[in-house]
Amino acid sequence: TKWVYRFGAGRAEGDASMKNLLGGKGANLAEMSNLGLPVPPGFTITTEVCAYYYANGRRYPDGLVDAVNDALAEIGRQVGRTFADPKNPLLVSVRSGARASMPGMMDTVLNLGLADDTVKGLAALSGDARFAYDSYRRFIQMYSDVVLGVEHHVFEEILEAYKEQKDYFLDTEMKAEDWRAVIDQYKAAVEKALGKPFPQDPHEQLWGAIGAVFGSWRNERAETYRRLHNIPESWGTAVNVQAMVFGNMGETSATGVAFTRDPSTGEKAYYGEFLVNAQGEDVVAGIRTPQALTRRARLRAGEEAPSMEEAMPEAYAELAAIFDKLEKHYRDMQDIEFTVQEGKLWMLQTRTGKRTAKAALRIAVDLAKEGLISEEEAVMRVDPRSLDQLLHPSLDPDAPRDLLVKGLPASPGAASGEVVFSADEAERLAQEGRKVVLFRVETSPEDIHGMHAAVGVVTARGGMTSHAAVVARGMGRPCVCGAGDLRIDEKAGTFAVNGRIVKKGETVTIDGAAGAVYAGAVATVQPELSGDFAELMQWADRARRMKVRANAETPQDAETARGFGAEGIGLCRTEHMFFDADRIVAVREMILAEDRPGREAALAKLLPMQRADFEALFKVMRGLPVTIRLLDPPLHEFLPHSDAEIDEVAKASGMDAAKLKTRAQKLKEFNPMLGHRGCRLGISYPEIYEMQVRAILEAAVNVAKATGERATPEIMIPLVAMREELAVLKKRIETVAEAVFAEAGTRLDYLVGTMIELPRAALAADAIAEEAAFFSFGTNDLTQTTFGLSRDDSASFLPEYLRQNILARDPFVTLDREGVGALIEIAAEKGRKARPDIKLGICGEHGGDPDSIAFVEGVGLDYVSCSPYRTPIARLAAAQASL
Ligand code: PEP
Ligand code: MG
Repeated sequence: TKWVYRFGAGRAEGDASMKNLLGGKGANLAEMSNLGLPVPPGFTITTEVCAYYYANGRRYPDGLVDAVNDALAEIGRQVGRTFADPKNPLLVSVRSGARASMPGMMDTVLNLGLADDTVKGLAALSGDARFAYDSYRRFIQMYSDVVLGVEHHVFEEILEAYKEQKDYFLDTEMKAEDWRAVIDQYKAAVEKALGKPFPQDPHEQLWGAIGAVFGSWRNERAETYRRLHNIPESWGTAVNVQAMVFGNMGETSATGVAFTRDPSTGEKAYYGEFLVNAQGEDVVAGIRTPQALTRRARLRAGEEAPSMEEAMPEAYAELAAIFDKLEKHYRDMQDIEFTVQEGKLWMLQTRTGKRTAKAALRIAVDLAKEGLISEEEAVMRVDPRSLDQLLHPSLDPDAPRDLLVKGLPASPGAASGEVVFSADEAERLAQEGRKVVLFRVETSPEDIHGMHAAVGVVTARGGMTSHAAVVARGMGRPCVCGAGDLRIDEKAGTFAVNGRIVKKGETVTIDGAAGAVYAGAVATVQPELSGDFAELMQWADRARRMKVRANAETPQDAETARGFGAEGIGLCRTEHMFFDADRIVAVREMILAEDRPGREAALAKLLPMQRADFEALFKVMRGLPVTIRLLDPPLHEFLPHSDAEIDEVAKASGMDAAKLKTRAQKLKEFNPMLGHRGCRLGISYPEIYEMQVRAILEAAVNVAKATGERATPEIMIPLVAMREELAVLKKRIETVAEAVFAEAGTRLDYLVGTMIELPRAALAADAIAEEAAFFSFGTNDLTQTTFGLSRDDSASFLPEYLRQNILARDPFVTLDREGVGALIEIAAEKGRKARPDIKLGICGEHGGDPDSIAFVEGVGLDYVSCSPYRTPIARLAAAQASL
């Protein structure tokens, strides 16, 4: 087996297609080498070594050491240096690199190979002792932190104390001998912490770093990240070892990160940050404020410090040409790391750049228009889930606001929540259902779970490419970073800003698009969708096979759904119409009535209200299909709770309050979800469904007469288990329909169908299809009944199932293909066999979940139905599923 792949100097043993073996970083370094770009030579230890390492008690395969030594020698030949040679030392960087970029793992060790002897060689070679000792102290700091586990702050405190004692303010005031003195203290601190000295043998250093990369694959943070992003543990990470180039060799050296397009807006403009005389970590750490890449960006931001375009025009021009080359080559926006060493540009990384949903849309549409990708590819480029970000609210421009602090607009969206200062607290409060905004000086991978739990994130330090910014954008959380005026006192549970004190628990509002934080809750408004959105959705609609409908009851929801492109209503839950203040009393009167005449009296009050509801809905939907489900929930849910509510019903119905109370008592059920609900209500109280059917058909007739637009109402019976239930109910529906049509002197087409939400119904779907013109899979109940898992109670123990990996996903969010999915397949097949033209849809929550949509595309359903805000997600997901 080949464990090590080399790259550099215009050729490489790997290429971009080998991400699984080389990891993303390694594969792209190889690809850039093949493209002839200036990549410092290096090699990648494969992900197979990682797998071997874990399968064999953390040991390496035979031959790895030799392969690494050979590859090191080859790097040395190319740069004219030798690893561990005190006179002419080769220094390397060591970086992790999994298939997918993974914060939470060991990231980078720079300057590896420096020790008490080699640092002298470096000083002599570079003719710059200060640079050499600065590099060495950086190495000790980084290596101790990420490999040896000696915390960062140990070194920061030493350095701070030293500077204070010398009366220095900036690191740049430190001279070679200062660094030497600090290095002695660093080494002593390491020895004290570990009981052994800082390793002086470069080979020992290297294997320590390699082990740390592999070890970090299974650290807790990486595991959390994998769980959140569904990354399998079996992938493993690769390790990249590469000749060092130095951005800290004086004023003609620099280091930076860049995007080929703006990752926030998608604008076609180079975007990035760089620091003169610095090493990679300085940019990300947010210790010094980075400078803009382009003159235009600098002017826009109103900054003084020159851009790279102005300060290093030649290196910049070469970089810009590489940006274009990489974009054309990869046919996507790239995220790049580079270093300039004494005027010479070096490429350290390229990868597909993370972006906001807004940017993803714009970039996909622009790339298609530029001819780099096809319209279908553009459709595939946007993650349907991310559309959520665009559908998120922003601040109401007219709402009064009280600015607390400004920072960088790191990730768009607006949200209000209580101030918290730790990730754990954020998680804890979020679990209680509270909304929190997480405030941190800066974030690290340890904060990811808290960022996930928070509705927004604010940091005091760090730029647009800082950890907080990158992670929040990926998660779609609003984020303001680098709010430099914030003084956070985590211990006291307060932050101070411009003389104001804000305490933990107070409400603030974050506007991630503007980079602002406001006191109190500021009103928000729904977003206007951009032209790019409309264009991409059009392409998606062209590619899509399944129809997309919405679950909606009210005319407003139906309007929203139509605005988002819904092609009908797939589920109108009529019980939602029963809870309105003006009718709940009549509903209670109906269910508490002692006999049929009592119920009919109450139903007579409800009929005109329901009819008006349906008329409004049909009007909004203008002839599009509308599926109306007859009453479903257990009557239990409508029972009055208090004496006052009982009295109200007594007054309206003329019944005795004491009697009503007894009756309400009797209607209570032990297991209402499996009790008197769904079509069982229709069987025992025919007049309820009769009223609803009359209301539906009278409304349809009225709207058809009034507008000339003819809807085909689809009347849906819930919780059917047996053909016979449906047969009985359908006959009654037909009787009512004939009566309505006779009275109206006109008829119209309507369908009677059923939900499939019980395993028995799925298994007996052929029999049921004899009576049903359509099936709609009610996957909420079908999941509940298939697993025997309560929809309403599972939240208390399901998380444990996810944590223990017993379940990979919450089955109420993403359809369980193995069980529930199998039932759907059976039902679809049997249904079609019995009735070839049967219409099939899904209206459970899964109808808006991209993964579940992909599954039902495979089953060949005719439509999915989801909540109005998710209709764009469903449209895009359905398009992707059919491409
Ligand atoms: C379902 O069970 O999937 C469904 C859509 O109905 P409800 O959520 O109203 O029970
Ligand atoms: Mg249901």
